[in-house]
Amino acid sequence: MIDTERHKGKRRLLLDSLREKGIWCERTLEAMMKVPRHVFLDSSLEDLAYSDQALPIAAGQTISQPYTVAFQTMHLDIQPGDKVLEIGTGSGYQAAVLFYMGAKVFTIERQLELFNFSKLILTKLGIRYTGKYGDGNEGMPAYAPFDKIIVTAGASRIPPQLLHQLKPGGRLIIPIGEGVQKMTLIYKKSDKIFTAKALGDFKFVPLLEDKTV
Ligand code: SAH
Repeated sequence: MIDTERHKGKRRLLLDSLREKGIWCERTLEAMMKVPRHVFLDSSLEDLAYSDQALPIAAGQTISQPYTVAFQTMHLDIQPGDKVLEIGTGSGYQAAVLFYMGAKVFTIERQLELFNFSKLILTKLGIRYTGKYGDGNEGMPAYAPFDKIIVTAGASRIPPQLLHQLKPGGRLIIPIGEGVQKMTLIYKKSDKIFTAKALGDFKFVPLLEDKTV
């Protein structure tokens, strides 16, 4: 759990490279500077923690590429105090970034191993959040509505419950498609009016549909 000057130096270089790739939101980059990505990874991957790539975590899943984390975070336009729901806790890295954006974080994971692992790391880092072990397609009705929702697994369709649990004026970012996904930003104008914008191609592990966890 040690975050050394060497780690911080590598992190700064990674963030510089994200700026060059078009990440313009300094608040997002500042939040990412606060999160030691290497502690979310197996120690054998430590040397790769600050390269801009997705990496394997437990249960055959992946921690998203830093560019993708930055991209999804900045497009949500998170304001301090926003209630943000994440689907696909995975390692917990994205949840930590949301926390440092000032969000009240809610996150769902369907793999028990990752639910437990992320809890351990996030707690050690002093990050406050509400986690649920279950199917993200259902959202978290007990805590709804949310200002922002982020889906960090590739979905074949938009889960209707997530649209329902979004506040009017809220945003949902979700990668949609099989194999390659179109990053889709949904803006909920009112209970009945939504607009959607495609923001480019990304690759995620699939959002599982089944309810048995
Ligand atoms: N945000 C994560 C990366 C997640 S990878 C991070 O920062 O590390 C996608 C995650 O979504 C995986 O952990 C996978 O187990 C989870 N997932 C897939 N289908 C799901 C579902 N229906 N509900 C909740 N989590 C799901």
